Formats: sequence, C-alpha cells, structure tokens
Amino acid sequence: MRPLRIVIVGGGISGLATALVIQEASVVKGLACHCTVLEAASYWGGKIVTHRAGDLLTEAGPDSFLSQKPAGLDLCAKLGLTEQLINTNDTKKKACVLWRGRLYDLPDGLISFAPQQWTPLLRSGLLSWSGLARLGLETVIPRGVPGREESLASFCRRRFGRQAFERVLEPLMAGIYAGDAEQMSLRATFPRFFELEQRHGSVIRGMVAATRAASQTKGAGSHHTMFVSLKNGLGDLVSALTARLREQGVDLRLRCKVEALRVRSHEPGRWMYDLLLEDGSALSADGLVLATPAYVSAELVRPLSPIAGGLLDMIPYASTATVALAYPAKNVVGTIQGFGFVVPRKEGRDLIAATWTSLKWPYRAPADQVLVRCYVGGVGREKTLDVDDHTLVTRVHGELARICGIQEKPHYTEVNRWWKAMPQYTIGHLDRLAQLEAALSRYRGLVLVGAAYRGVGIPDCIRDGTAAAEKVLADLAGGRHGKAVR
Ligand SMILES: Cc1cc2nc3c(=O)[nH]c(=O)nc-3n(C[C@H](O)[C@H](O)[C@H](O)COP(=O)(O)OP(=O)(O)OC[C@H]3O[C@@H](n4cnc5c(N)ncnc54)[C@H](O)[C@@H]3O)c2cc1C
Repeated sequence: MRPLRIVIVGGGISGLATALVIQEASVVKGLACHCTVLEAASYWGGKIVTHRAGDLLTEAGPDSFLSQKPAGLDLCAKLGLTEQLINTNDTKKKACVLWRGRLYDLPDGLISFAPQQWTPLLRSGLLSWSGLARLGLETVIPRGVPGREESLASFCRRRFGRQAFERVLEPLMAGIYAGDAEQMSLRATFPRFFELEQRHGSVIRGMVAATRAASQTKGAGSHHTMFVSLKNGLGDLVSALTARLREQGVDLRLRCKVEALRVRSHEPGRWMYDLLLEDGSALSADGLVLATPAYVSAELVRPLSPIAGGLLDMIPYASTATVALAYPAKNVVGTIQGFGFVVPRKEGRDLIAATWTSLKWPYRAPADQVLVRCYVGGVGREKTLDVDDHTLVTRVHGELARICGIQEKPHYTEVNRWWKAMPQYTIGHLDRLAQLEAALSRYRGLVLVGAAYRGVGIPDCIRDGTAAAEKVLADLAGGRHGKAVR
C-alpha cells in the first residue's frame, strides 16, 4: 500500500507543531505516512521572527509565551531547548499603566488576582475610592446568565466596575489581542473568567481559591516566571522544530504558495485533496491541514463549502506594528523602571503598550544600551500605521519622550509591520466555530488549525496543532468521523 500523503499548508508555529505530532504519532501507530509542509514565505515560523542587529536581539512578532499553559514548555523540552529558556528579570518586577498622561504602578501578574498583588494597586491612586469600592463589590455581584454571549467590556464593567475596566483590565486584557473589548467575546478570549464566575460566583473568589489550591499542591512551585522566552530569541524554537522535522524526513518547502483547493472522491466518504500551487504545479493529499490565517483558509475551502468560506470570512483581523528603539543607557537610566506600560484605549494614544525589553529580559542588549519595544495599531487604531517608518518612529519616540521624559534620540530603530495579523474572537466566535465544524464535517481528513480559532498565544497554537494532528491521523486510519475544526 502506498504511504498516506498528508500536506500541511502554512509553516507558522501551528503548522510546524502539527507536522511534528503527525510524524511522531504515525510512527507510533504504525501508519506509513509522507508529510509535507508548504509555506508561502521565504522563511519558517510565520509571526515568530527574531532579528539580530549588532549586539541587540529584537523580536519582530511575539517576544515570549505563557509558562502556565504547558504546551510551549513541553515542546521546548521535546526539542532539547529547556536549558535555553529564560525567565523575566527578577528586579523591579512590575508594569505600569498610563492614565491621563501619568504612569501608575501595576504589580506583575495582576491578572492572576493573587491577594498579595493588590496592595500596590490600592495604594497607587489609579482608582478613586468609589472605583475601589465598586471593585470590592465583585465578590457579591450576582452571576451573569450562563447561556448569554457577553463582550469582554460588558463582563468587566458588570463585575469590576467602569473604572477598573477602563484603567486596568481593558489595556491588560484587550491589549493582548490588539482588540476592542466592546466587540471581543469573553468566552472565546478569557474563558477562565467566565468559568470562575459560573463556578464560584465571583472571579476574585475563584482566583483566590485557585491560587490557594495551587500553592498547596505545587510545593516549591514552578521555577518559571509567568512569561518565558529563549536566550537567543523565539526564532530558536522555529529552527529547532524545522531541524527536527527534516531529521524525521518531513518534506519542508518554502516559497510554495497554495492558490486553490479542489476535492475528489474515489469512494464514498474518502477524499483526495488537490492543491494548486502558485508556480502552476499541483499536489494531492489524503489528509490536509490548513494552518493558514482564516482569510486564506476561507478562499481555499470556499469551493468545498461556501458556508465554511463565509464563516471564516467573519473572523476579522487587526493590523499592528512593533517598533524597536535602542538608546544609550546613560541617557535613559532613571527615566524608566519596571517592565514597561500599557495604554488604555480611553487615552487615545498611538501606543498600545511599551516594553523595556532590556530591563525585562536578559540577553537582549549590552549593558550600555536600553532596548525598548513599542506596540502600535490594533482594532480601531489602524490609522496609526498609515505613515512611513520614519514618521512612525518619530511619533513613537515622541510619545516616550512625553510620557517618560526620554530626551535623547534612539540610535537604533526597527519597524515591523503586521498586516491582518491578530485574529479577533468577536461575539459569537464559538458559535461560528461550531457551525464551521458542521459545514466541513463531511470532509474527512481535512482539518483547520491555528491562531484564528482557539487561542492566539504560542502555547495555544501548539496545543491546537497536537489536536489537529491526532484528528487527521484518526480520520485517515479509518477512525470515527470527528471534528473538522480544531
Ligand atoms: C506583533 C505580535 C506579537 C505577538 N506577541 C505574542 C507573544 O508575546 N506571545 C504569544 O504567545 N503570542 C504572541 N502573538 C501571537 C502569536 O505569535 C501568533 O498567534 C502565532 O504565532 C500564530 O501562529 P500560526 O502558525 O497560527 O499563524 P502564522 O504564524 O500566521 O502562520 C501562518 C503561515 O501560513 C503561511 N501562509 C499564508 N498563506 C499561505 C498560502 N496560501 N500558502 C502557503 N502558506 C501560506 C504564512 O506565510 C504563515 O507563515 C503575537 C502576534 C503578533 C502579530
């Protein structure tokens, strides 16, 4: 019997992680399998891009990942990268929030709602007494209606009050997605908040109970900080992953853009997927994983299911940019401290957030330089990006000068633009995923995976890739008809 041919379209972290599990699991299951990954760009990793500029190390896209979600750390362990993992620096472990032009301290990990983390917030003056009193009422506010879809903004205002939402939660939570909290689905973006409310009747009480339970079971606790990165940048995750895939015989092809998808059935319920490539060639597959952004997958699946194409079109994307700036340390010391700051939407600024990269992470800049990373754009703020790089850098530097008093011009700058890069899980997202799954359920062996569906973070994409790999192998091994969308 000829080996099963499985093609993965998209060589970002989701596609690469899927390929690794397909390759490993097919060996374990004794399935003869030929796996190919097709990537349109000239490099692997999608949004994960590490740059070196002299002694500086910059991340164009993600700069770290959450350690609490195990998939990221587990993949690092599998690839022999555990020794390369780095924690955030110990000293001055705090972030700030900008409010009415002034920076207020927020403790690191505020969002974990550990009670000991609250004191600085209470003392900071960021919230008025009435705002603090309203926040305290969270523990007694009744539960929301379980079946009702609620926006992140509505949930946070209802439970924590308007001030805590606008000044703390909105920039911390919506900022992760470069999104608009009024449009974001709470259940799709922060399902844990929804679960805690439903289970404990209060997010704060639920978090406190969870923190207590974790400290009792974990003993000494994890030696990782909330976010971790790799010593030589997250690009090492991509290099290690592609090296491992090559060793295992996976066929990795760059500059291979898939233009169209057709499907043939040679026996009831079994499909062959024909991929038409930009160079005019074609490739057939028994199993197909689309690890492309939703708007690309929409065009590919439309001939198979116009409904699925339409549902994928309904996942909007935000465009953003990261701007790296390096300053001589002697000109900046004393003006900045902590890990950086977030900016509430209400402030109406160009910046979503700024990270003092070289204060937050080791190995990012030599001691005589300070590396800063600014995040701009996002839903409703895309206009910020309608200028050339020089203007963008001037504006971002101007904001830093006004907010923190950095006077000197940066001696190194870098702009990385991300067009339609951050999927938005808007109200109704989970229902649309269920409909998408139903619309594609007859196409056994076809799976959609990636940041557009069940989590945008790197660990979410890796976890989703594992589930997608298992699904496609189960389909091809003649297993039950499962879900088409992971
Ligand atoms: C600026 C920024 C900062 C971020 N910061 C963090 C962070 O700090 N921590 C974190 O955990 N997450 C972060 N994220 C989110 C995270 O990086 C992404 O969600 C994740 O990397 C997406 O991976 P993916 O494989 O699903 O998609 P992608 O990385 O987008 O990969 C999809 C791939 O498909 C390819 N492709 C598209 N069309 C075709 C085609 N027709 N044929 C073949 N290939 C095609 C693309 O070229 C791309 O390589 C950030 C994202 C951005 C943009």
